[in-house]
Amino acid sequence: MTTDLLPWHLDTWDYLQQTLHQGRLPHALLLSGTQGVGKAGFARQLAASLLCEQPQTTGLACGKCRQCLLLAAGNHPDLRMLVPEEGKTQIGIGAVRELVAGNALSVGEGAHRVFIIDPADAMGRAAANALLKTLEEPIQGTLIILLSAKADRLPITLRSRCQCLRFSLPVEQDAVVWVESNVQVLPGQAVQLLRLANGAPLRVPALVENGELERHSRLLEDFVAITARQASVVPVSEAWLKGYELSSLLRYLDSWMMAMIRQKMTCQSEDAFPPLQTLSEQLDLKLAYQLLDKLHDIQRMSINNLNPQLALESILLECSRIANGES
Ligand SMILES: [Zn+2]
Repeated sequence: MTTDLLPWHLDTWDYLQQTLHQGRLPHALLLSGTQGVGKAGFARQLAASLLCEQPQTTGLACGKCRQCLLLAAGNHPDLRMLVPEEGKTQIGIGAVRELVAGNALSVGEGAHRVFIIDPADAMGRAAANALLKTLEEPIQGTLIILLSAKADRLPITLRSRCQCLRFSLPVEQDAVVWVESNVQVLPGQAVQLLRLANGAPLRVPALVENGELERHSRLLEDFVAITARQASVVPVSEAWLKGYELSSLLRYLDSWMMAMIRQKMTCQSEDAFPPLQTLSEQLDLKLAYQLLDKLHDIQRMSINNLNPQLALESILLECSRIANGES
């Protein structure tokens, strides 16, 4: 685990350290924000800070004391992580009951205990209700940290008993600096990867591992060929659907349309993907928005009611028309 704070977390960190020193750290926090913004790392850093015997002046854990060593070994009794069991997406009521049960609370090394529930929206209603009682009657010294990228899906009763801290995406410049110093990338690739990660830096390492940049570049090449009428829609659709789910392909098309619209509206150079910059020059904004609406309609439709090949062909034909200035 990295012990440095991410630059875009500093304000939230300082705020929590202040509340800690003033003795008014909340008993439950809800860290919300998109996946890949660093919520989980932050929660662990906060837990480590509370458990450490001699935190640094910044509040970060020392990394050397008995508590820090226990934590690094992954068996600190005062940090409990609740995540979905392997192969499951839900956190069951049984796991929540066990977490908040008396014996889980009676073990302990020091003044603080931390429970991290990640993601909190994996708890169904019954599991959330099981947690609610603990949130209503806080246990002295116990901090419950809920993490969620979909906090609006959590029951309001749960949300209202937590202090909510929203984690925003960093500005692109900060994100690029982080990616360039933490991921092995060639010059210029950090911006491209961040665009593919929707600006979330901590999603970038997985994208690199999966060869996303190469994959994206091949798809974009096909897309450009279609708009230039150098490739036909039917074989390209067939080839794409052999390698990808329709939903992933629609997400790519969505992001390209958005990039072109952004480029057209701001007139800034779209350095990340030059082919999109060229395409955006001839873009009719009204038609582009119409196409975006259609894309979103298809994305909302049940996948069972769709013929993927026909849906994709129809969108690609429209892309080609728009790119050629035809309505
Ligand atoms: Zn320590």
